[in-house]
Amino acid sequence: MKVRTRIAPSPTGDPHVGTAYVGLVNYCFAKHHGGEFLLRIEDTDQVRSTPQSEQAILDALHWLGLRWDEGPDVGGPHGPYRQSERSAIYRKHVDELLAAGHAFKCFCTALRLDEMRVAQRAAGKPPRYDGLCLSYGAAETARREASGEPYVVRLKVPENGVCTFDDLRRGTIEIEWQGVDMQVLMKSDGLPTYHLANVVDDHLMEITHVIRGEEWVSSAPKHLLLYSYFGWQPPSIMHLPLLRNPDKSKLSKRKNPTGMLFYKSMGYLPEALANFLGLLANSAHDGQDEILSLEQMVERFALDHVPLGGPVFDVQKLDWLNGRYVRERLDPAAFVARVRDWAFTPERVERIAQLAQPRIERLSDLGLLLAFLFAGRLPLEAADLRGGKLDDAAMRQAFQLALFELDAMPDWSIAGIERALKRVAEALGRKFRDVARPFYVAITGSPTSIPLYDAMDLLGRDMVRERLRGALEVLGVPSAKEQAEWKKLLDAVPQGESA
Ligand code: GLU
Repeated sequence: MKVRTRIAPSPTGDPHVGTAYVGLVNYCFAKHHGGEFLLRIEDTDQVRSTPQSEQAILDALHWLGLRWDEGPDVGGPHGPYRQSERSAIYRKHVDELLAAGHAFKCFCTALRLDEMRVAQRAAGKPPRYDGLCLSYGAAETARREASGEPYVVRLKVPENGVCTFDDLRRGTIEIEWQGVDMQVLMKSDGLPTYHLANVVDDHLMEITHVIRGEEWVSSAPKHLLLYSYFGWQPPSIMHLPLLRNPDKSKLSKRKNPTGMLFYKSMGYLPEALANFLGLLANSAHDGQDEILSLEQMVERFALDHVPLGGPVFDVQKLDWLNGRYVRERLDPAAFVARVRDWAFTPERVERIAQLAQPRIERLSDLGLLLAFLFAGRLPLEAADLRGGKLDDAAMRQAFQLALFELDAMPDWSIAGIERALKRVAEALGRKFRDVARPFYVAITGSPTSIPLYDAMDLLGRDMVRERLRGALEVLGVPSAKEQAEWKKLLDAVPQGESA
């Protein structure tokens, strides 16, 4: 049997280093065994999925050096590879489950489900669908459906007993069925949820090994139940530990940059980042031989060596590795090419030159005006940020609110950035002009520069986040309590109405 693995990202945000890590492990495992590696887009969340995010994820994984044998961009015999294009397939499978009595229609309203959860919480019980609609007979279900009541389809789950399964790396895992919810498989709009689509696709795409993040361990019983209801042989499964911050907390963008595009715009080389992630996936490397190509990682890959404790994303180690690649692995011509591709592509140079032209007297003014576009974190001091109408307290609020807003923006665009910053000014009850100054300084290092929105757009979301975090570190990082308080200021500004 040919090994077939896949990565199944949801296009709901910027490409994450965790996605690259999982992708790399799946790639190395499949290729080590002479198998195939697929990419499938899981865009069942129609509200949050965007084509821009999908493209950014594909581009980032390509940049890292991964190639897939089948996928939405390269095609293949098991397509389509985008779940939004497979609705009819899921519908047919839901009908099969309903006909066999493995799933049921649920007419409960959002209000009833909320009340149920509140009551469960008050009684100290875990939140779980109580099975009301399961008690309806066929006639009652048909009557409700005929009268046009919207419904979802839920999975029937055993009342008692334990689901036991093998994880390739963790061994036997046991989860009590009582803790497993009667999962919604199909939403009232007829579209599937992740759980159904994922199982159906892994089966139809002949995936032999599902290797994914450990956040999915608790979902495994639902998936295995679906395999048995359909009468299918389940794939082998393995859950990878999540990447960690150096303090061992889960890697999150609040503490460390997590976006692939951040590392790209910081000037890390893709082969260095891939090498670094590869070392995190292999606890057996002896520290001597740390520079590894993708081919070597494939050759040496062993599931037994994937660490079970969360591997630490140690940026200092990455810096060291990247430095070696930059200095030792690129001949002068290759280095020039990398520098050009990093920040001096003709389109980028043209855009930046046009923005700078009205703002300079001598060409030699360009260096200082534009230095911020070619830097990582800026060497700011509090005095640099001060001098406008906002005091330190207001600046801290402004930066924090901007982080909230910019993170929530679906796609990075000039119009979105403008809306976000105007909302921040409104939430603080300030003139936009007054708020703009500290942002100029935090983002560009100076109170005047090329237009702020263009500067932010050119830098990208991850680098902007990094600069704002840098400014907050200078003024004082807000506590969790402050953040929660301040968030309410934003919530009070009506969406889409800021001037
Ligand atoms: N769409 C899921 C995610 O992005 C995939 C999980 C899986 O690999 O099954 O995390």
